[in-house]
Amino acid sequence: AKLDGRRCVRIFEPEMDVEMRSRVLLERDLRQAVAQDVVVPHYQPLVDLRTGALVGFEMLARWPHPTRGMVPPDVFIPLAEDLGLIGALTEGLMRQACREATSWPHALTLACNLSPVQLCDPGLPGAIRAVLNETGLLPSRLELEVTESALVGDLALARASLGQLKVLGVRLAIDDFGTGYSSLRHLQSLPFDKIKIDRGFVAGMADNIDSGKIVSAVVGLGRSLGLVTVAEGIETETIAGLLRDLGCDIGQGWLFGRPVSADQIVTILSEEPVE
Ligand code: C2E
Ligand code: CA
Ligand code: CA
Ligand code: CA
Repeated sequence: AKLDGRRCVRIFEPEMDVEMRSRVLLERDLRQAVAQDVVVPHYQPLVDLRTGALVGFEMLARWPHPTRGMVPPDVFIPLAEDLGLIGALTEGLMRQACREATSWPHALTLACNLSPVQLCDPGLPGAIRAVLNETGLLPSRLELEVTESALVGDLALARASLGQLKVLGVRLAIDDFGTGYSSLRHLQSLPFDKIKIDRGFVAGMADNIDSGKIVSAVVGLGRSLGLVTVAEGIETETIAGLLRDLGCDIGQGWLFGRPVSADQIVTILSEEPVE
């Protein structure tokens, strides 16, 4: 409460008040946007580092806001989690993305991000099965990315979810690898198919010897565990070359393409070689 008068404590500074009001408005807008499916999938290319062929796309959510412009996922995903909207938001986005992916060449995969809280939702596997059935996307073409932070909460629940997702026939990737903790145990005991090496390590490879060593170790680890390795955040040909030499399988980053809308994908598909 904000009271006037010299002797009263001002709990909110004026700018904080503005911030709070802005958050309340953003929350209201997000509820509406989720209900009306306003948040849309964009897609970023995934490329075979050895051959340069396009192998799939990662879906990255974008919120076109009438007055704020394109709101980035780093802003609205945490908000959706707080508001309990993440399940509905993800389901809407995945339905749209899976439908779009059915019109891509069949060799191409679709990667979607799951929020850590979703792994604790017992309804998740059923919801994803329903999306696959509805859209007709072959389950093996769908890849679900989860971060290590999804595994620090209720590990038993996360394990059960991942197991059920695996039974559906979808692929599982551990995202932002190296930024969380106890990752090695998770790699060994959970049914992951892929490791995505965090952008921070990849970007550092050009001028930081330690980053290079870490990436090299992770690629080696992935290979010896029989996992596909993916490097994200590749911005230069130099880094792509280093990763190729290390034997990293798949690359993603501005060098190969930024996230683009479904319409622009059609253009990309008419130009890119697909294996
Ligand atoms: P992420 O899953 O690690 O996705 C990769 C992020 O790196 C994306 O940011 C992508 O645009 C950016 N990126 C890709 N290549 C490059 C590059 O070469 N250089 C640089 N500087 N950046 C690059 P974006 O789209 O802003 O997404 C941020 C995060 O938001 C994602 O990180 C993911 O954790 C989350 N997110 C996005 N869409 C969804 C969604 O539908 N559901 C959930 N739960 N999370 C999502
Ligand atoms: Ca991701
Ligand atoms: Ca990532
Ligand atoms: Ca990230």
